[in-house]
Amino acid sequence: ANEQRAALVTGSGSGIGRAIVDRLHGDGWSVLGVDLKAPEGDLAETLPGPSLGADLTTREGNRAAVDAALEHFGRLDLVVANAGFQHVSPVADFDEDRWDALLAILLTSPFLLAKYAWEALRAAPDGGRFVAIASAHALAASPFKAGYVSAKHGVLGLVKTLALEGAPDGITATAVCPGYVRTPLVEKQISAQAQAHGISEDRVLEEIILTPHALKRLIEPSEVADVVAFLQTPAGGAFNGSPVTMDLGWTAR
Ligand code: NAD
Repeated sequence: ANEQRAALVTGSGSGIGRAIVDRLHGDGWSVLGVDLKAPEGDLAETLPGPSLGADLTTREGNRAAVDAALEHFGRLDLVVANAGFQHVSPVADFDEDRWDALLAILLTSPFLLAKYAWEALRAAPDGGRFVAIASAHALAASPFKAGYVSAKHGVLGLVKTLALEGAPDGITATAVCPGYVRTPLVEKQISAQAQAHGISEDRVLEEIILTPHALKRLIEPSEVADVVAFLQTPAGGAFNGSPVTMDLGWTAR
């Protein structure tokens, strides 16, 4: 059997997911990255492990992700449900298909991954681990983000439930809840707001994005990856069923 612990990381093509893949590889894990499109050519060459293209808003996509991890590694010790996107709109105009897609990627995909991986996580020799990259928006709302905030609050409920169900089988579940992280997801919001308000991107960052942070900076993707790596140590198991809030003081208010 494969001696290395094995992880499945979704949304591995960008931002936080990519940083988690790199960090886990550095720590000696086998990692399957899953994103909408598998990287091709030179990009694929530079990746430290296998990857899969799958649409995780579908049941088949989530099933394929778990199957591929088990095929590659013969075991699965950790699932990191990270893939996601944002949609910003007043509730009265909120596109209903976007709502469905947000719930599918941010809430239903983590549920399906846990369900399909459950047996493998139970068999993990050091205890299976489930980590959702949730958000400060799992704990507090912002206007115009009805779909995202609702799904993130929901995934915290899923994590709590998995923690209670998994404990007798040595499976732990944790929700990492960052404030704003320097990734394309946030960079897109900065440029959209700059356009909408007719102001510079620097001003958007200072006057809009960083407003909720007590500490006025963005979090780096590697900082989130560090937390995920810590959760894989024996001490990390104590965070079973809890949000690990890393929001620079946002929810301290
Ligand atoms: P990102 O846009 O850099 O990366 C997200 C990845 O998910 C992309 O590669 C995208 O292709 C993939 N993805 C989206 N839809 C998919 C689908 N249907 N199937 C498969 N893959 C899909 O974003 P990020 O900032 O790295 O976000 C990662 C996670 O962290 C998300 O769940 C996000 O909500 C959460 N988060 C981000 C921030 C932040 O400020 N950036 C803060 C808190 C939480």
